[in-house]
Amino acid sequence: MVSLTKIVDGGPAMNDTLLGQEVVRCPQCEQTYRLSYSKDEWYKVSAWLRKAEVALRESHEIDQHEQDTVQLIWRTGINRSDPLRR
Ligand SMILES: [Zn+2]
Repeated sequence: MVSLTKIVDGGPAMNDTLLGQEVVRCPQCEQTYRLSYSKDEWYKVSAWLRKAEVALRESHEIDQHEQDTVQLIWRTGINRSDPLRR
């Protein structure tokens, strides 16, 4: 499990119980987010960080980081749902 939460006044806008944490900055402005991940995701963190950057750029363009959390979805291909997850 992975979550991306906006950091407001030096702390995350919402708490979670995930163990791993990285700080990601929006590529377009100074807004930072906390990427939290569970133990089973740590080996994918560098890929999650890239996804987080893309998601933050979208969040910036769509609503200027209005939302406290940004949804991250693992996809194996573009616009293709994973047949194993059905
Ligand atoms: Zn931004």
